[in-house]
Amino acid sequence: MAEIENKLKKELVTQFHETAAKGDAAKLSTMLTYSTSLVDEVNERGWSALMHACRNGHLEVAHLLLDKGCNTSLSNKSGQTALDIAKFWGYNSIADLLANPKVTAGAGMWPDGPEENENYFSRTLLNKLSEKRSDSTWLKNKQIDQASVYILFSNLTPLVISLKYEESRKPMLHLCKLHYKDVEHLLAKPEVTCIFLGAELQNSSGGSQIKSSVRKDSAENDGLLAWFALNTNSDATDNFRIKYPDCCFLQPLIPHILNLNQEEAGVVAQARSVLAWHSRYQFCPTCGNDTKVSDGGYKRECLKENCPSLQGIHNTCYPRVDPVVIMLVIHPDGNNCLLGRQRRHPPGMFSCLAGFMEPGETIENAVRREVAEETAVKVGSVQYVSSQPWPMPSSLMIGCQANAISTEITVDNEEIVDARWFSRQQITEILNTQGHPMSIPPQQTIANRLIRQWLKKNSNL
Ligand code: ZN
Ligand code: MG
Repeated sequence: MAEIENKLKKELVTQFHETAAKGDAAKLSTMLTYSTSLVDEVNERGWSALMHACRNGHLEVAHLLLDKGCNTSLSNKSGQTALDIAKFWGYNSIADLLANPKVTAGAGMWPDGPEENENYFSRTLLNKLSEKRSDSTWLKNKQIDQASVYILFSNLTPLVISLKYEESRKPMLHLCKLHYKDVEHLLAKPEVTCIFLGAELQNSSGGSQIKSSVRKDSAENDGLLAWFALNTNSDATDNFRIKYPDCCFLQPLIPHILNLNQEEAGVVAQARSVLAWHSRYQFCPTCGNDTKVSDGGYKRECLKENCPSLQGIHNTCYPRVDPVVIMLVIHPDGNNCLLGRQRRHPPGMFSCLAGFMEPGETIENAVRREVAEETAVKVGSVQYVSSQPWPMPSSLMIGCQANAISTEITVDNEEIVDARWFSRQQITEILNTQGHPMSIPPQQTIANRLIRQWLKKNSNL
């Protein structure tokens, strides 16, 4: 009996190691839910799953095994640790991870670990409280409440403070939180629009230090800490430098906007899109007359009596959202994906194809049309994966996986200057080789998430 058990266990360990060697993090994770003790099992040569992952350059698997508390100090029968193996085979990202797991775990972007389909810009620390937008008395009181938080944009770039995490090499950017007295002079300017963002969620990790003072200071206290945003088109840095010497407006906006902490990124996505709408839609789109801002900045109403925009259902009064399809196109063989280069991409960077949806189109048809226009590849079935607000200025990226039914590529040379099929192997190398001449967009982008999620899946699925 013991012999059979031993044999079964050995087979399970072999299967576990093979899965690590293949880089199938999803399957590995499932296996670990059944048997957590597998994590440090070694074979007759003393190799652990982590060593197999290091040998084959699977960074995701290394992250997973570290998360599961695997022992990184084990040595195999040749005396090599997992770190030695990663170094020997030139997988520098994994070597970095093993040498200093605290610094690189999750690359500092998602300290609590991202949900499977969670994208940057999708978390927020605010409850929008849309029912308060029409309560002008409440809004006025909150505006002058000294506890309320104001975030400031100049030409649509947010005012931030860079805080260095003790253990992190990269500075983490935080929004500079201002108060009524800091922005009073700006609120008085007619061209400055102030929008109500919501109230801070209770127990949110990005909580404000001044929370405790709310109770004392506001007369009609309802315990809600309100957040507002405003945009000025004059550079106001100098005024704020005196009080907040480390603050600055994010320049250039991209890529720095991708280095905000996760909760605040969602607040910026909300605020920037609405403020950008106000800056571009000053006049009534229907009759050209002046408009007034209402609903805490979530509406602009035409001031001309009987303007058609005041009747019926249409979106000229509310902040706009522009849907964009972004898709990872999979080769009919399941092992290659189609990535393209736009002229404006940094040299060597390939990404998912993408494009604005057109009126009267389904998501599926927009995906098929965009892929055909840009590369002449035909797409069959399309599956929705996840979405990402992209506040430059107000896109919603709708992430899809698209299955190709043809493979020949002809680029349009307008939007796309180069497009190629990339194998899993090539993408893994691009991701894991420092100084590789090719790259994919950073991990905060939905393109990166679509590519990585495909990479994690078993090729036979
Ligand atoms: Zn009008
Ligand atoms: Mg296009």
